[in-house]
Amino acid sequence: MKLRGLRAAGLGGVGIGAFAVLAVLGALVCAPAHGQTYDVVISHGIVMDPESGLDAVRNVGISSGRIRTISTASLTGKRDIDARGLVVAPGFIDVHEHGQEPRNYQFQAHDGVTTSLELELGTDDVGKWYAAREGKSLINFGVSAGHIPMRIRAMTGQEVPSLSAMNTPVAEAANHRELTAEELGRLRAAIETGLQEGALAEGMGINYTPGASHWEILEMFRLAVKYHAPLQVHLRYSSLLEPQSGAAALEEVIAAAAVTGAQLHVAHITSMGLKYTPQFIEMIAGARRQGVDITTECYPYTASSTNLNSAVFDEGWQQRYDITYKDLQWAETGERLTPESFARYRRQGGLVVIHEIPEAAVRAAVADPSIMIASDGLPITGPKIHPRGQGTFSRVLGHYVREEKALDLMTALRKMTLLPAQLLEKRAPSFRNKGRLRVGADADVTVFDPSRVIDKATFEEPLQYSEGIVFVLVNGVLVVKDGELVEGVYPGREARAPSPQIGRKDAANPAGRCGEWPFCSGSPSGARTAGHGHMAVFGRCETVPSVSRERRAIRAG
Ligand SMILES: [Zn+2]
Repeated sequence: MKLRGLRAAGLGGVGIGAFAVLAVLGALVCAPAHGQTYDVVISHGIVMDPESGLDAVRNVGISSGRIRTISTASLTGKRDIDARGLVVAPGFIDVHEHGQEPRNYQFQAHDGVTTSLELELGTDDVGKWYAAREGKSLINFGVSAGHIPMRIRAMTGQEVPSLSAMNTPVAEAANHRELTAEELGRLRAAIETGLQEGALAEGMGINYTPGASHWEILEMFRLAVKYHAPLQVHLRYSSLLEPQSGAAALEEVIAAAAVTGAQLHVAHITSMGLKYTPQFIEMIAGARRQGVDITTECYPYTASSTNLNSAVFDEGWQQRYDITYKDLQWAETGERLTPESFARYRRQGGLVVIHEIPEAAVRAAVADPSIMIASDGLPITGPKIHPRGQGTFSRVLGHYVREEKALDLMTALRKMTLLPAQLLEKRAPSFRNKGRLRVGADADVTVFDPSRVIDKATFEEPLQYSEGIVFVLVNGVLVVKDGELVEGVYPGREARAPSPQIGRKDAANPAGRCGEWPFCSGSPSGARTAGHGHMAVFGRCETVPSVSRERRAIRAG
């Protein structure tokens, strides 16, 4: 009966939602076939899926990078993973991770992350960013069109290849200056190019570009709307003092979202709200109730981290954040700062850890079911960096779920998987197959021991792998096995939005992306095929026979 109803609802069409329906139907029609051998079987684990609410012992069959069955029946696999007593969850999606190098990916895999996204600062060259990671990555990766780097480039002509390049003296002069009309034109064109090249979002760090006017911000929001892209925004201020307070900065972007209709995601709410974090959470919830498309995220630490030579530490920082020199920790050595060392290191430039977030603020955000978990992890520039990039997800599971009982496990998993996927799926429909443990979903799976999972990275010893994350699969390939990294595998794929230049092979689309439904954003595997056999699988154009098989099965009844 259900099948007939859904068929009548138009499964023959090619609407964007249809594949999600197909995938759900796949779960209904794909009983485990007798005698079938899967590539990988995860046996006897406690399967937890925040979308369906499934929380029961099941066997999971995986083939060709996708989940093919979830069953109580025993399954046969070429490889069998015994998950008895372990939780089998969708792989974690980190929507805020600046560390996008192989070493970062290793730490993240150990923390259960299967998709790592640099959406806040982003990049000034989207095509180049993706190309540099293709075929070389342990986990899936993605990036935004970055307002800060593109703005610097539009004003100075200089490329901005790294985090530190955003804080050179030339870049800082640009960050503090308003754009000319000509520069705004160049910036707008750069952002549009980035979005056309498949950037997942538009990234902004208004705190780092104090020269950006409110008009410029509105203009950037309008561009994001044009491309159905979410904006991930680090607010203009995090100060406790009026009138340039964090609350005023939150009002600025809520207003911009209300005026333009943009999808707004506020970065790291605790380091913006500080002691007013509960009030920030209420402002965001209130805006959402009034119809503003707004979400936020947090990391589970009482310290933030950024460049000491950025605008965040312009004159008056002690009053703004209600901290002093000893609350600053020079990342490279771990030493607490003094007026003298502050002046010296600010001239030199580099990362500083800022002990400024009250525990009550962290707990309020971590426990809130609507707030995503995101690490804000940093490139590993030395032995002493903020531990958040290495331990965020295990810290939530081990410390806040198991030890503190601040939230339940399913809620925590939802904040790490389904919510981040939903943030991006309007812009990049491939995310409809991420963040879920269901038939048809990508086989990004994190298997952990709920009685043992814990972060080990600390401020003193930040380069420590989390513990208790036992198996991690990325697109069906094991990257962590029995708690150890698997060497020499690179199953990570690009997480990329569809390009509007589909189907044409020209200078703007040298790969000749095929444009097949739902969206093809990757390299071509040939011409259009009848029956929509093609689909974008994380940036790859791939023929998926199971889709048409499932479709036939549905049609048959
Ligand atoms: Zn930030």
